[in-house]
Amino acid sequence: MEGITSLSEVQFALAKQDHEVTLPLLVEHYLKRIDEKRDLNAFVEVFTDEVRSEAVRIQKKLEDGKAGKLAGMVIGIKDNICYKNHKVSACSKILDHYISPFSSTVVDRLLAEDALIIGRLNCDEFAMGASNESSYYGPVRNNADKTKVSGGSSGGAAVAVQAGLCLAALGTDTGGSVRQPASFCGVVGLKPSYGRVSRHGIISYASSFDQVGPITTCIEDAAILLETIAGSDNYDSTASRKPVPSYTSKKIETKKERIAYLSEALDSKGLDPEVKLAFENSINSLKTAGYEVEPVSFEYLDYVVPAYYILTMAEASSNLARYDGVHFGYRSKRSVDLETTYKTSRSEGFGPEVKRRIALGTFVLSAGYYDAYYSKAQKVRRLIRDKTNQILQEFDFIMLPTAPTAAFHIGQKSDDPVVNYLADIFTVQASLAGIPAISLPVGNNTKGLPLGMQFLGKRFGEAELLSFSTKFRELQKT
Ligand code: GLN
Repeated sequence: MEGITSLSEVQFALAKQDHEVTLPLLVEHYLKRIDEKRDLNAFVEVFTDEVRSEAVRIQKKLEDGKAGKLAGMVIGIKDNICYKNHKVSACSKILDHYISPFSSTVVDRLLAEDALIIGRLNCDEFAMGASNESSYYGPVRNNADKTKVSGGSSGGAAVAVQAGLCLAALGTDTGGSVRQPASFCGVVGLKPSYGRVSRHGIISYASSFDQVGPITTCIEDAAILLETIAGSDNYDSTASRKPVPSYTSKKIETKKERIAYLSEALDSKGLDPEVKLAFENSINSLKTAGYEVEPVSFEYLDYVVPAYYILTMAEASSNLARYDGVHFGYRSKRSVDLETTYKTSRSEGFGPEVKRRIALGTFVLSAGYYDAYYSKAQKVRRLIRDKTNQILQEFDFIMLPTAPTAAFHIGQKSDDPVVNYLADIFTVQASLAGIPAISLPVGNNTKGLPLGMQFLGKRFGEAELLSFSTKFRELQKT
């Protein structure tokens, strides 16, 4: 089972008549591996008994020729994705032990195709962070070097796939949370266009940014997962009614696409020399293969992080108002009346990063500062989106490193929020613009830590982005 790294390989092995590989055996393999790798802290809960019995049920469906297209897919879900009658906490004390009374649309769609959900994965508290260090359940360790962070906020999801604890994972990406940990862990991470995937049953962080995306070892698994979870949903009016094309059957384009890279990114101050070298090598390998790769200027690069944080903190302060010690989860023992219930439950239930964002978000929305910050940031978002779309009219894709550095030391940055926020410089552009973006592994740095390259596509252009990604990955192998 060691050599099996994609759904098609799993399904090939399951289809053999010798029964050397069965779903129950596959599940045992993953459970053993999870146990051996417990120190990575990737899972906050493993659904051991349930996944064992479900494996038996789906094995039977396979034998009867009645199984769905994800039969054999053993998948983990980030702990902010609701699954009926299962705990979901957004890795926050305030939701510790909370049990979801319903399933998210993405979970329903996975189950309808016979995927096996093996457990919930660690993440930053309410998906706020880029290192998984703000989780109530502690940081996740990178399997390439356990002293290093996993990236975040979907750190558990990326490490689970990196370390072979499950075949794939679903994360969420508000400003890079699928792509950046994928890059730190040497796996594939896709953020779909805003509106491509339903947000129903996803614990909201910033509603005009949040999207669910797959983390996988290969492009074909990202494609089949996206194809399964995407599409309109009566429970989420922001999920687009645009038909979902088949991402798996799309022919690989033979044409050589035109790719823009941002010159400001190549010259950016915080760019690690080894990441810069990987960026240049990727540009050169594409050029050698016959692609047109050209620099373009994107003068707003310095504004993407401030605009992103003003808007997401504002949205978070509103979204997190519901955690008040009355509606959900944790209620402080010190509460004696309504006001103390709110104050003490929220003070004790939220961690420092979440509190910081609620406070700043409330500030930028307050009457005296709304125009200066929130409404200004919305205008900046529009400029960034328009400029990005303008580049994408001339080019098929925009190329950027996923993160300015490789995975850093656990604890190295956590004291300084501004340093942490600035590390999102390359991922938030796609989030502000609402367009799809993918992080692809491009090998390791000299310390053996994975690096990732990112490609941004046109809104709802996931099929083209995935087709190109397949070709880019082939180039990496040559
Ligand atoms: N690091 C970014 C933030 O903290 C992105 C998080 C995310 O995409 N959920 O907001």
